[in-house]
Formats: sequence, structure tokens, C-alpha cells
Amino acid sequence: MSLFEDLVAANRILAEHGVIDGYGHVSVRCENNPDRYWISRSLAPELVTEEDLMEFDLDSKPIDQRGRTMYTERYIHGEIYKTRPEVRAVVHNHSPSVIPFGIIDQPMKPVYHMSHFVGMGVPIFEIRDLVPDSDLLIRDTYLGAALARSLGGKACALMRGHGAVVVAESLPVVVGRSIYLEMNAKLQAQAMTLAGPGGAVNYLTPGESAASVGTQDYLRAWQLWRARGLRDVKPKA
Ligand SMILES: [Zn+2]
Repeated sequence: MSLFEDLVAANRILAEHGVIDGYGHVSVRCENNPDRYWISRSLAPELVTEEDLMEFDLDSKPIDQRGRTMYTERYIHGEIYKTRPEVRAVVHNHSPSVIPFGIIDQPMKPVYHMSHFVGMGVPIFEIRDLVPDSDLLIRDTYLGAALARSLGGKACALMRGHGAVVVAESLPVVVGRSIYLEMNAKLQAQAMTLAGPGGAVNYLTPGESAASVGTQDYLRAWQLWRARGLRDVKPKA
């Protein structure tokens, strides 16, 4: 089991769970050089193999491009790795159930223990504060750094009218958080609908959220997801 194999698995798991589709990406910080990270070349995540992985510095410049096309929004990853030394894995997605919470004035709140990290708070990045009438994409280090500032020390941030960014200290945790962020959004919307206008929803308290930090590594699920994610990957010749 290698970090590259884990990164391939992470791409496929996130696609299988509908967190990313043809778009969105996941990266991991280099194990022996904290100033570099690995991410796929520009490719639908479900198709990613180890041969597609590329190395970047934290300005998101390729170390050895070899003519390969790169994700336009890779700056999200580099700028977050710059400001969060403890972060070792980053996901950017357009997770469908999460999108509404970026465009309404009701914040995301933790509905259950699997998404306790939502209780840390989920900031919303507003690109209009920097660029009016943009295409919403994080196209350079300037926008990437602004997004990283919005994220602050949190586990995830929403990008208004676009998607989300999720970070963690490992690939299993960033994948788990991405899946359960999507789930939390879906369940919260259901609970808010059932409660009706003005109705109360009984969310996790800040104390309950804090008590779960560090206890949920998603490893049991990761083993299952990883095995499923890699089942169609041909062994290397
Ligand atoms: Zn995007």
C-alpha cells in the first residue's frame, strides 16, 4: 500500500459517492517534502491511475509537466498547504447537497456524530468580494490565498455558487469528511423541511462536536471504500 495508491483510491471513492463527478479533485502533501503535493493531471477523477499523478510546488507550478494538462483550480491546494502546515490532504468538490448552504443565510450545522467537524463552523468564501462578475473558478494564487484565508483553521469551507473545500491530516479523513459533509447537508435540509418554517432542529451542541474531534478517523469505512475504489484498477505491469 502506497500513498499513490491511496490517492488513486481517494479519487475513485469520491466519484463513487457522488462527491465529485467529472470535476473536482483531491491532493495529498508529499511524504518527504512538505513543500510539494501530488494531484492528478486534468482528468475525470474516476479514471485516475498512478500514471496520472503529478507533483507540484506550493505555488502550484509543476515539477515535471511533460506536456500534461493541469487542473485550472490546483491553486486551491497549494495555497491551503502553505497556510496549514498540519494539513496533508485537500479535496475540492461541487458536492450537490452542499451547494444550497452556500447561497442561503442558514448556516450548516452538525446533524450527527459522523459530521461532528461541521460544528467547528463552515465559513463561506465569497469570490465577489475580490472579483466582480468572475467565472467563480480559483484561477491563480491570489484567489487561492483568499480562499485559504476564508477557510482559516476549519475543516471545510463553502464556495458560494460553486462548491466546497475540505481539509484533513490524512487522505482517509479528508475522504470521510467530504462524504459526510455531503450527507450532513442532505440530512440537514431534510430536518429543516420536516421542522417547517420556524421549527426547531436539535443539532449537536458545540461540546458534543468538540468531544468527537480526534476520535473519528473513518478508518473502518476507508478500508471498505478503498477496496471497492481500487477493484477496477489494473495492477501495474
Ligand atoms: Zn471547482
